[in-house]
Amino acid sequence: MDMTANDCQKLMEMLASDSESVHFLWNCKEGIVKSIGGSYIPDGVEDPLDYMRTNGYVDEKSLSVFDVFASQIEQGIISGTKRGNLASDISLRLEQGGEFHRCHVYALFMRGSDNRITDIHFNIRPLSHKEEFDSNVLSEFTSDRAPKHFGDRIAAMMAANADREIAFIQFDVERFKIVNETYGVEVGDEILKFFSESLSVICNDNQPFCRLTADVFMIVTAYDSDDELMDFIRKIESCLTGYKGYEYRLIFGVAIAEDRTVHTRRHGDNASIARQSIKGNALNNIGFYNGRMKSELQKKHTLEDYMYKALLNNEFVMYLQPKYSISSGRILGAEALARWIHPEKGMISPAEFIPLFEQNGFIIKLDQYIWESACKKIRSWIDSGIKPVPISVNVSREYLKSFDVVGKLKSLVQKYDIPVSMLELEITETIDSEGVQNVVRDMKQAGFTMLMDDFGSGYSSLNMLKTTQFDVLKIDRSFLSEFMESTRGRKIISHTISMSQDIGLDIIAEGVETYEQAQFLKDCGCDSAQGFYYSKPVPVEAFDSIFAK
Ligand code: C2E
Ligand code: CA
Ligand code: CA
Repeated sequence: MDMTANDCQKLMEMLASDSESVHFLWNCKEGIVKSIGGSYIPDGVEDPLDYMRTNGYVDEKSLSVFDVFASQIEQGIISGTKRGNLASDISLRLEQGGEFHRCHVYALFMRGSDNRITDIHFNIRPLSHKEEFDSNVLSEFTSDRAPKHFGDRIAAMMAANADREIAFIQFDVERFKIVNETYGVEVGDEILKFFSESLSVICNDNQPFCRLTADVFMIVTAYDSDDELMDFIRKIESCLTGYKGYEYRLIFGVAIAEDRTVHTRRHGDNASIARQSIKGNALNNIGFYNGRMKSELQKKHTLEDYMYKALLNNEFVMYLQPKYSISSGRILGAEALARWIHPEKGMISPAEFIPLFEQNGFIIKLDQYIWESACKKIRSWIDSGIKPVPISVNVSREYLKSFDVVGKLKSLVQKYDIPVSMLELEITETIDSEGVQNVVRDMKQAGFTMLMDDFGSGYSSLNMLKTTQFDVLKIDRSFLSEFMESTRGRKIISHTISMSQDIGLDIIAEGVETYEQAQFLKDCGCDSAQGFYYSKPVPVEAFDSIFAK
């Protein structure tokens, strides 16, 4: 649910007069609470959930649910989850020293334009007798694995297995939103129900499990050997995937509870970190938590805190790497590559920040910024009477399906009034080409030249060559350097080039580092090259002076 500042103000006014329940607004960016309507949380408290926990507002019996709730909130803030609002039934005090009531705690997320959570409105409402009765009956009779019992069950299981290893396993469905969109929400629900039912069959009494939120499940298990643990995870994976032939993939995060003295919530959080860390990794769907992963996550946080400011400060800069004709030595175009010039850390390479930005969605902003810089540059060439060359920009696959990339690019071309042929788009070759194909088709229809980036580094198949709608294949640096080492490899490169040209695709090789590579490519009929042999990516001014030569 998207709320504007205005909506929000109205909501606050309405709620301030509602004396039945407790409300407060947490501005999580600044980390302060603003209380409204009968809240007992003082203004200015930094973490309201922590405040409630440490000040005895949460019933001992409800602590585990509360902790799961709190850690989900925390995760939402940190990782910018697209997940909707959170609700849980928790036993709480409504005033200091008062009695515990079973309450419905509801967290409404408000998001900024980048979809990250900026504020959370909490509403705590005591359940009516009837609701309380219903919810007790429900949890007694439908499952003993509801969140409210989960913490107790984990504790009991851990105590009973003091001499065995314990693993916290979280899993979710990769891009569950897409599953919902593709097959419909009913199917999404059905799949989740199927998961719960299957887990109750797969898991034994030593393996408490629970659905945490939406499509996230957690299982805690005791085990004796790594093989046993892996077999268990694989069993879950194979039992739960492929339900009725629907296509989806499970992503697992595993944390081994080495230190039994810390709160179980910590292990759950660690499993969640491990799960998040593996998202988008096509080859591996099981992530393990360890100390290194955690310190990387902390590094991420400092970067994340900073990136918006960096964009406003113009710390992101477009570099250009020229593309050359091997035979004539002339510049044919350029690729735009982002650089982060940090005031203290100096130049940060894209390898450090692009994967993070793809995860947290900031890549949408950065890419648009680079696209616009490229259009500006083309405009300035035209204005100074220089015959422009096309600039290719990278289009991150992450949001191809969710964001109107084509519309945005078209409007940039219009805004700067440049020929559409001057802006070329690079998209990484991909296995899940179906959704991407439609976007590529729209881009082509709009007149953009489409380059398939990193060809030969991943999933290329001959079949893809048959169906592709791309105009240009960009041969990946690793493909070139590895295959050039053997006679057989050189034959493969050579045939890939001639075959692609036969079916009307242009070819450019990237990562050309030596004279031999350039000559070899030329002999194979590939005349376009980009790489350190010619030039590294350089600031635009430097590009202009190379270009003018
Ligand atoms: P890419 O699109 O495959 O870009 C080519 C990368 O290869 C660049 O690294 C470039 O500096 C490097 N390179 C070029 N020639 C040579 C060579 O001869 N030898 C070697 N060893 N490397 C060469 P860079 O600039 O560090 O970018 C890394 C990746 O980050 C890019 O790979 C691209 O996937 C991503 N990236 C960079 N800028 C952007 C951007 O604005 N948006 C998006 N979405 N991704 C970007
Ligand atoms: Ca590229
Ligand atoms: Ca590339």
